[in-house]
Amino acid sequence: MKIGILSRNAQLYSTRRLVEAAGERGHTAEVIDPLRCYMNITTHRPSIHYAGKNLDGFDAIIPRVGASVTFFGTAVVRQFEMMGVYCLNESVAISRSRDKLRSFQLLARKGIGLPVTGFAHSTRYTDDLIDMVGGAPLVVKLLEGTQGIGVVLAETQSAAHSVIEAFRGLEANILVQEFIKEAGGRDLRCFVIGGKVAAVMSRQGKEGEFRSNLHRGGKASIAKISPEERSTAVRAAGIMGLNVAGVDLLRSNHGPVVMEVNSSPGLEGIETASGQDIAGKVVEFIEANAAAGKTKTRGRG
Ligand code: ADP
Repeated sequence: MKIGILSRNAQLYSTRRLVEAAGERGHTAEVIDPLRCYMNITTHRPSIHYAGKNLDGFDAIIPRVGASVTFFGTAVVRQFEMMGVYCLNESVAISRSRDKLRSFQLLARKGIGLPVTGFAHSTRYTDDLIDMVGGAPLVVKLLEGTQGIGVVLAETQSAAHSVIEAFRGLEANILVQEFIKEAGGRDLRCFVIGGKVAAVMSRQGKEGEFRSNLHRGGKASIAKISPEERSTAVRAAGIMGLNVAGVDLLRSNHGPVVMEVNSSPGLEGIETASGQDIAGKVVEFIEANAAAGKTKTRGRG
């Protein structure tokens, strides 16, 4: 098979591992920088060009579209779908997962456990919004944040009020969330491939830090999860429509709650913690599922 990996940086661990895993299984893999693609939007022969050449003959695309290039990156994925090329995660699913509010609404609709979460545009009734999610302590999050940046714990009502006002004053979109104290700064990253949890790691924030992100100094280790946690992770990925997803869970007093469903989950932490060849499993899934024209949406929004 000829596999295209949509990634801005061929040197990244995840990109390198996917290229390697494809090669080990007798496939050729090409890294394509989505921002260097250009496309013709046409009914009959949609195509993508890259550095003066037509990108064709691909059997599958692995999108590794970073949050900063979601807009153009998903357009490139959509174009591949219009060309009938199998995309591991489709553009609609990637866009859904990038929008925290939309994701939460979709997950809530299907009964997935979530922290009580509120959202408002205006700061006029901030106190009522705070009461609505159960009062302080609570977590205020930038909707566009990643790697734990823009995730703030407000311990008191007045701190929460000030943080919300400050963020809104900068015209940032935020959500306000029940603080899951009992998680103790630990979360579970479940790596889901094709409706199965392929590996799990637990991340523990550094001393005194409630955010478990590895980028914020958190430490990863292998973890076991309960059947309820497993089914929550698998269902969450399915609801988003993602074949490959990193589902982050917190252990709350009211069962597992989903923090986020990531459509380009990193491989380094999970392969190191689990000792498993996750890149290989991703390629195996593609071998079993990729076929021309086998895209659910064919580029439909
Ligand atoms: P990002 O997408 O930037 O990583 P998250 O929403 O995943 O932001 O939050 C980062 C980390 O902060 C989470 O992995 C979790 O450890 C912690 N965290 C976030 N929200 C809550 C919450 N409501 N209660 C407890 N801890 C939280």
